[in-house]
Amino acid sequence: MASYFDRVFKPCYREYLQVIPGKKTIGGCFKLLWNLIKPNALTYPDLVCVLTTHCSLKCKHCNNLIPCYKEPYHVPADEIISDINTVLSHTDICVKLALLGGEPFVYPEIGKVIDAFKDHPKVMCLDFATNATVIPNDEILDKIASAKNPKIIISDYGVSTQKVKEFAEVCRKKGIFCEVCEDKTWRLAGGTECRNKDRDKLIKEYDSCYSSRYCRTLLNGKIYTCARAASLVDMGYMDGAHDSFDIRKERTDKEFRKEMREFLTIDYAEACNYCDHDKKIAIPAGEQLP
Ligand code: SF4
Repeated sequence: MASYFDRVFKPCYREYLQVIPGKKTIGGCFKLLWNLIKPNALTYPDLVCVLTTHCSLKCKHCNNLIPCYKEPYHVPADEIISDINTVLSHTDICVKLALLGGEPFVYPEIGKVIDAFKDHPKVMCLDFATNATVIPNDEILDKIASAKNPKIIISDYGVSTQKVKEFAEVCRKKGIFCEVCEDKTWRLAGGTECRNKDRDKLIKEYDSCYSSRYCRTLLNGKIYTCARAASLVDMGYMDGAHDSFDIRKERTDKEFRKEMREFLTIDYAEACNYCDHDKKIAIPAGEQLP
């Protein structure tokens, strides 16, 4: 098992102090501290939720394998809301709840999901990662703006259909905190075949990956070790038994918290057997398939 301090405690403070917007207070720091150290505490630095596998771009090297979906789909909002509520009912604090796709703003029920969590007392920040090809309508933007602590991150790949400046300007006018990520390099994750790495290598790779701390991903009732793991299992490229936590399984609150803490400190992810991040091959971000 990895250490709770390294996988949960430190990432929670990093997210709170450096990543989420909003005023930071001594009281807020102490509240987070208490919810990290009290008996049976369960606090997430980052919970990522996949709303849809539809996307408005077709990135050749998408880490989450979205262009590999032959039949992309939207996850029903009622299921998403029920699953997140289940997780939050056993949770003390979720520092950041990230709504992700594919592209989250092509998801037709996004307003319903925002309404469900925009004022949730256990969620410190509602976050959206977008490619800025689709600017949501006023109604959706107003819902986001009225959330307790919203953040929109725009990934700017320099693709002609992206409306980065326009989207950022709309956010500014609505008072929504917006960050434009102009990083033009990705790390190649490669194809969906198994690399047959040994356990020691998997432990090392998972531990050195950002995702082992900041990208536990909820899809269809299960939380996965990372977003790539969720897609790999969803499309049948690997078995998810090791890399997932079934939140729909019957458990008491105490059991849920204990088993989830074990999952958050898991020592390796089987998904790393289907990923080349360790090779550190730099590639242009957002290169499009024809
Ligand atoms: S598969 Fe492993 S190395 Fe690749 S993104 Fe997921 S956790 Fe990181």
